[in-house]
Amino acid sequence: MLRIYNTVQTETQEVESVTCNKCGKPIKKEPYGYWDTFISVEKTWAYGTEWDGETHSFDLCEHCYRELIAQFAVPVTRSE
Ligand SMILES: [Zn+2]
Repeated sequence: MLRIYNTVQTETQEVESVTCNKCGKPIKKEPYGYWDTFISVEKTWAYGTEWDGETHSFDLCEHCYRELIAQFAVPVTRSE
């Protein structure tokens, strides 16, 4: 087998900043570039629902997540 390779440069995108949808504050990047301090939700609503096929997405910081789950009638399921 004979293969000849070209060097190809590609571009990648990485997250530069994240803003919490609820409080509007920037979410800080963790050391070593991780983004562990927020949750990201994306939901495509079915046709026939109130949002009829729309996709909604949002990010919440740790603080706002804590406030949100404190309102739950049924606590979040926790596991390790
Ligand atoms: Zn927030």
